[in-house]
Amino acid sequence: MNVSMQDAFNLGWKLAAVLQGRSPASVLLTYSTECQAVAQELIDFDREWAAMLSDRSRSDAAAAQKYFVQHGRYTAGTATLYKPAVLTGAATHQVLATGLLIGIRFHSAPVIRIGDGKQLQLGGSFLADGKWRLIAFAGRNDAGASGSPIATLCHFLTASPESTVMRFTAPGAGIDAVIDVRAVFLQSHYLLVMTALAELLFPAKGCHGLRDYEKAFRAIAENNDMEN
Ligand SMILES: Cc1cc2nc3c(=O)[nH]c(=O)nc-3n(C[C@H](O)[C@H](O)[C@H](O)COP(=O)(O)OP(=O)(O)OC[C@H]3O[C@@H](n4cnc5c(N)ncnc54)[C@H](O)[C@@H]3O)c2cc1C
Repeated sequence: MNVSMQDAFNLGWKLAAVLQGRSPASVLLTYSTECQAVAQELIDFDREWAAMLSDRSRSDAAAAQKYFVQHGRYTAGTATLYKPAVLTGAATHQVLATGLLIGIRFHSAPVIRIGDGKQLQLGGSFLADGKWRLIAFAGRNDAGASGSPIATLCHFLTASPESTVMRFTAPGAGIDAVIDVRAVFLQSHYLLVMTALAELLFPAKGCHGLRDYEKAFRAIAENNDMEN
């Protein structure tokens, strides 16, 4: 089980956020709430697993193997589910993204970075730098051009005073200093034109205004259709 690694990460980013003045100290209390619930689940699982292995009347190797495989993601520590609280939203809008369970670790997937055509893991492209990340998944026909849903979202995020990005980013700070917005498209990366995307997806940053071309990706289908 790797739960301690997640717990360490959980506490690490919260400590950094509080020490750097980006979050109130009360955010630290969520560590106990989140981790205690998971610890209890682990104790329950261990009890059940131990009973299964020690009960001679149930000594069925195939059933034990099936049980262990079924709980593989759980025992690997990647099925940890944080309940709705200060940091985890309720499942009100879960229907919009059924593949990403609210409260669970963001599962990575292979993608192609549009800026350079490089294949990588989406999760691996996120640095543990304390930023919040907002990942927008484009619809099948959305190539990010002006007027498309992704472009409209980016426009809202950079122009509206109600936008989370604008509300929490200090004037003069980089547009992704607090909230890093990225987009994943379904269109072939040969059809996606980086400079036709909303500027939020290739913002000019730093004192030299260099473009960050690492925010737009193309999802790779399970059959790995790299050629399309
Ligand atoms: C059944 C079970 C199995 C697990 N298996 C694994 C595993 O196989 N691999 C893995 O990576 N992780 C595993 N974990 C998770 C791992 O144990 C935790 O992630 C890790 O222990 C969390 O570390 P911590 O320092 O936050 O808390 P803890 O390890 O709980 O340390 C907190 C310490 O603070 C002490 N304390 C509490 N309150 C006070 C107080 N007021 N004053 C003084 N001291 C206090 C406690 O006594 C305790 O010693 C498992 C957890 C459980 C419950």
